[in-house]
This record gives sequence, C-alpha cells and structure tokens, in this order.
Amino acid sequence: MIEEFMDIKIDKIVRSKRKTIGLEITPSAELIVRAPLKASFEELNKVVLKKRTWIERNQRFFKENYNRIKPKDFIDGEEFRYLGNVVKLKIAYDIDVPLILDDNHFHLSNHFIDDARGIFEYWYREQAKKKIDERVAYYSWLMGIESRRVNITNALKRWGSCGTNGNLNFSWRLIMAPLRVIDYLVVHELSHVEVKNHSKEFWSKVERMIPDYRGDEKWLRDNGHFLVL
Ligand SMILES: [Zn+2]
Repeated sequence: MIEEFMDIKIDKIVRSKRKTIGLEITPSAELIVRAPLKASFEELNKVVLKKRTWIERNQRFFKENYNRIKPKDFIDGEEFRYLGNVVKLKIAYDIDVPLILDDNHFHLSNHFIDDARGIFEYWYREQAKKKIDERVAYYSWLMGIESRRVNITNALKRWGSCGTNGNLNFSWRLIMAPLRVIDYLVVHELSHVEVKNHSKEFWSKVERMIPDYRGDEKWLRDNGHFLVL
C-alpha cells in the first residue's frame, strides 16, 4: 500500500481547528492538505490516496495553464481579460493618465509600471462597480425586486453573495468575465433576496431570467481560475 501513495507529494500541511481534511491545489500545482490539529499522517494519506484522480487532474490543469494563471508581469503584448475579451497591453510613453483602454489595447503609462498591479485593480474595480450597478438596476426592475446596494469585494472564488441586509456583494474579478456571466450572477444574487437557499424554487426563479444559467455556471467552473491579475 505504501508505494501506492508515496508518489503523490504533499507540499504543505496546514493544521487548524477544522473538523475535516481538505485538499487544495495552488496555481503552481502544489498540493496543500488542510487538517484538524490531531489528524495522523495515516489519515491524511488515506484522504490523499482516495482523491488521487482529482489531485492529478487538477495538477495537470494548473501545469498546462500556468501561463494564464501566473501573476501578470505587465509587459508589452501581455494578455488581459475584460468583459470576456482578451486585450493586449502596450506600455505607453505619451499619455497623461495611468491606464486607458481603447478599441484594441490597454495602454499603461510608463510612469506607472511599478504600480501596475494596483492601477489595474483600481481600474477593474471602477468598471466592475459601474457595470454591476447598471445590471443590478436593470434586473431588479425586470424581476420586480427593490434595487439593492452593491459592494465590490476582492474575493477570489466567491463571485457573489447576498448579505442578510439584502445588500449584494460581487468580486471585482467578474469584470474580466463575459457580460452574460455577470448577468447570471446578478440574477443569482437578486434571487437570493427573496429565496435564501438553493431550492427548486430558487433555480426556477433564476431560469426564468437566464434560461442557460447552467452554461454560465460551467463557464465559471472552467474559467474562474483565469480571472486573476
Ligand atoms: Zn447562491
């Protein structure tokens, strides 16, 4: 038995007060095991062995797609995402603003290269707020739901959520996704204003607005990893 799992390398074990053993593959394809304080090595190995197919599939995915997931370098020709399109970056020597988008390119002022990540994030956040506010206003009108306050978050995987006060939260990273995916998430969270769970009633509410919502969920599963800077 031992040889069977020895070839799966655990890169890091993080122990905490959690109750179950969880596995995570990082963008650099490392395996992180999250474990309860007292879990034994044997218990960890058992879980790793059981999840071997999942681990290998995910590690392969991250290795093959590393270029699309790794932190950006902010160099000429590098590709960025905006509303589902791939837009190349040009370093500009003749503009007065830090960052602009025209029909073909992002133009980043050479004076701001050192702060490029912060400047891009700020730009994405502003566009996300504008676009999502607009879509929330539209769909809440269409669905007959009172319009809600929108907060923009920094979440990596939690694309949207609906607070207990009825405020809606969306990650700024969504502005990199196609508009139809943004619309689906807006409708998803607006539906939670009235139905808190993921019951049949909830999904039929979503489906009335977004008939192909399953396609958008799949898009997020397949592409969510790429919505990074
Ligand atoms: Zn939900």
